[in-house]
Amino acid sequence: MKSLYVKFVLSTIGIMVISGILAFLLSNAYYQQKLKPYNDQKNTTIALKIADYANEHPEIDLEEYLDNISGIGYQLLLVGNSGNDTFFGSTFNDPSLPETVREHVLNGKIYHGILQFPRKTFVTGFFANEVENSIGVPLTHDGNKYALFLRPDIKLLFNEMHYLFGWLLVLTILLSILFVIFGTKYLVKPISTLTKATKSLSKGQFNVEGIDLNRSDELGVLSRSFSQMTRKLEQMEDMRREFISNISHDIQSPLSNIKGYTGLLESESIKPEDKKEYIAIINGEINRLSSLTKQLLLLASLDRNEEMMKVQSFNVGKQLKELIRNYQWKVNERGIMIGYSLPDTEFKGDPALLLTVWENLLTNAIKYNKPNGSIDITMEKKEHTLSVLFEDTGIGMNSGETERIFDRFYRVDTARSRSIEGSGLGLSIVSTIVSLHGGQITVKSKERDGTAFIVELPLPPV
Ligand code: ADP
Repeated sequence: MKSLYVKFVLSTIGIMVISGILAFLLSNAYYQQKLKPYNDQKNTTIALKIADYANEHPEIDLEEYLDNISGIGYQLLLVGNSGNDTFFGSTFNDPSLPETVREHVLNGKIYHGILQFPRKTFVTGFFANEVENSIGVPLTHDGNKYALFLRPDIKLLFNEMHYLFGWLLVLTILLSILFVIFGTKYLVKPISTLTKATKSLSKGQFNVEGIDLNRSDELGVLSRSFSQMTRKLEQMEDMRREFISNISHDIQSPLSNIKGYTGLLESESIKPEDKKEYIAIINGEINRLSSLTKQLLLLASLDRNEEMMKVQSFNVGKQLKELIRNYQWKVNERGIMIGYSLPDTEFKGDPALLLTVWENLLTNAIKYNKPNGSIDITMEKKEHTLSVLFEDTGIGMNSGETERIFDRFYRVDTARSRSIEGSGLGLSIVSTIVSLHGGQITVKSKERDGTAFIVELPLPPV
């Protein structure tokens, strides 16, 4: 497989060669169509002027005159009536000239050799140093008839230009190739870096280095998206590891308790009151495991998709009041005062999932409350949302803790919280259900003062 770099260099050089050939063909067509007739015309005028001067001045020495003309940049051939040839200026590569042409001009006609030059297809005909590639005009001097053939001495007139254009062409080609070779390396480098980074990412290494995130072009956008994706993958990998270790711990600790107490129950010398206590502890641990697996199953099904929602219209106020009634004994047991303002309100959502939300918020408000504390539950129908507020006078949290409470398995690590039973899954289930309903949950809390959770669910437009 050719690398992107080699492909790029080869295709650019290929494009340069093809463009060069096309440019040559097009400029050749331009020379043939436009410049060649013009060049022929220009040289015919010059030749005629030279001949006219010789005609009009029979007293001058023709050879000396033509020698002078050749000195200013022309190659000349003077054909006499008797067929003798005299050359002036630098020599022609091919001095031959068909007899018919000589006679044609001696008979007073003009010979357009530049225009009719046989190598028609290429502009290189312009440089052919041959007598055939010249302009022939009749010349009469001192009563004698001649044929004068003239072509510009390209070497004399354009030699420096030749070198200049030659160098220009060679340097342009060489420099272009050099720049393509080095420039392409620079262009392809970020792609190679990204490829390396992708490879190390696929091996599970997330600290990819060397990616230029500051570029403002498409590669910059790609690099930034890649780096975002890497961070997201790293977070997900961390979450996955944490999730597995949390689950393992939360399953392992009740299991080892159960194992310990069943071991004690096996002893024959066990007192009946101890036996009762151990069985109660085992039952408690089994309940803990069962509620943990229920929560995990619910989270897994919530993660899968929204289609599991069974949406229907129901009275949220009534649902919340019923829930409070069910928990009244627990509230009374802890000496907590509960107040509420829950008007009958119809809402379209999944009643079972929303009951899970309210139940989690209420049990948290009870669990993390102070003795003789209070709980206030208020529901309010606003223009576009249904807002439900759970406010307690409990242990509260600091801002660092409130930021993390919706993470799976997160539990505030204070002596007080640790003594309270929980899995750290409740609020992450709550926030997932609220999001599935298109709503949002926010928390305001002050350490040792209390906490307020506000659930806002969107109402359909009226
Ligand atoms: P848990 O099963 O531990 O209650 P949650 O996801 O419901 O799990 O809550 C996460 C953590 O947030 C809890 O461990 C607790 O520390 C804190 N928390 C939740 N609700 C409250 C509250 N009303 N007052 C104080 N802390 C709370």
